[in-house]
Amino acid sequence: MDIQAEPYRIKMVEKLPMLSRREREEAIERAGYNTFLLRSDDVYIDLLTDSGTSAMSDEQWAAMMLGDEAYSGSRNFFNLEKAVRDIYGFEYVTPTHQGRGAEHILSSLLIEPGDYVPGNMYFTTTRAHQERAGGNFVDVIIDEAHDPASDHPFKGNVDLAKLEMLIKNVGPERIPYLSLAVTVNMAGGQPVSMKNLRQTRELCSQYGVPVYFDATRCAENAYFIQEREEGYQDHSVADILKEMMSYGDGCTMSGKKDCLVNIGGFLATDSAEVYEAATEIVTLFEGFPTYGGLAGRDMEAMAVGIREMVEDDYISHRVQQVRHLGIRLEEASIPFVQPVGGHAVFLDARRFLPHLSQDELPAQSLAAALYVESGVRTMERGVVSAGRDPDSGEHRYPRLELVRVTIPRRVYTSQHLDVVANAAENLYRKRENISGLKFVYEPSVLRFFTARFEPISGK
Ligand SMILES: *Cc1c(COP(=O)(O)O)cnc(C)c1O
Repeated sequence: MDIQAEPYRIKMVEKLPMLSRREREEAIERAGYNTFLLRSDDVYIDLLTDSGTSAMSDEQWAAMMLGDEAYSGSRNFFNLEKAVRDIYGFEYVTPTHQGRGAEHILSSLLIEPGDYVPGNMYFTTTRAHQERAGGNFVDVIIDEAHDPASDHPFKGNVDLAKLEMLIKNVGPERIPYLSLAVTVNMAGGQPVSMKNLRQTRELCSQYGVPVYFDATRCAENAYFIQEREEGYQDHSVADILKEMMSYGDGCTMSGKKDCLVNIGGFLATDSAEVYEAATEIVTLFEGFPTYGGLAGRDMEAMAVGIREMVEDDYISHRVQQVRHLGIRLEEASIPFVQPVGGHAVFLDARRFLPHLSQDELPAQSLAAALYVESGVRTMERGVVSAGRDPDSGEHRYPRLELVRVTIPRRVYTSQHLDVVANAAENLYRKRENISGLKFVYEPSVLRFFTARFEPISGK
């Protein structure tokens, strides 16, 4: 096997907290068994999220010194706009404080109450904004995406038959846009193929339905196309991304993921009409249209990050490092979602903890146990994240009950990931001892962020 080392070297280090097991037990109890509520000072290896946790490059830090903090018309905005035009190919750019700021603007502009918004699986904030605007989210991803054992190479693909059936059932006029995620976070960071993007675009054009990308991890998706899709091996990731984006009318972007910054996002579109309307809303909720809630220096760092994210050496190592963790887990026979996605490995909590029912919150329980075992922080992506159905008030029971082990970009070495695999292996050997959890506090929206739990069996 070829060994691929980090295509960067370390210029500054940050000390990691090392707690004892007893201290970790106390910390998770204080946190209500919710890893979101742990203090980061209590975490050894923080794999909660890849959002805003990237290490910036020396070029990006240098860019931070070039902040033009003018209220309007900052030169950093024009550099950001140019980076988006060059790399994504969209004409109009509205910066926002992060991805959900862009989702808020797009949803409130385009969705009328009672509309249907199809998407290749839901994402928490995306769907919450669609529902807030009165829309109904409809999942049109292929069935394989819901099967953790399927090794389909493009599990993020849109099921064209499902999409067309929806368009025929409700009428294209009730569908303001298709929300197309590349890669699909909730399916395990799974990519969409270029062929599927092309066909989806054709179908939507036939009915006059616009396509907006959730482009949060678009560079990772482009890498998978280069790796797996026939005819793309000789194309650069930058060229592939440009072609992908050509099948949409615009995108929302969380810069905190693929753009390699700690804060920021944007809405991009080719529609002058949408852009104009967006500049009105952005002023109300984010800031003036040339800063959208960001400092000039943040826009400059994002402009540099956008160009770095499509460098072939960087993105190849990024995706391979995540896969490295998958290979280690596979060697230990630990159940996880196949194939490994672009930003995370998703442990399959149903198979890890078969003695727990879904009402006993297996993924939440596994995330808490993994923290106590090793100081590694991960996140639940199962029934707690899925929330309650707004009509019936019942839990939504997703088929996937997962623990997301998310790898920040350029932060940890592959040896840190070996430690994680080792901890999971130790825990797997004593998995029968892991008890389920129950809610003791449940907020009404996005409950996974702040809910508190206690063990069902006492302690
Ligand atoms: C993180 C994320 C968002 C929201 O972006 P924020 O920057 O966290 O507001 C939207 N969609 C997907 C797929 C994401 O992963």
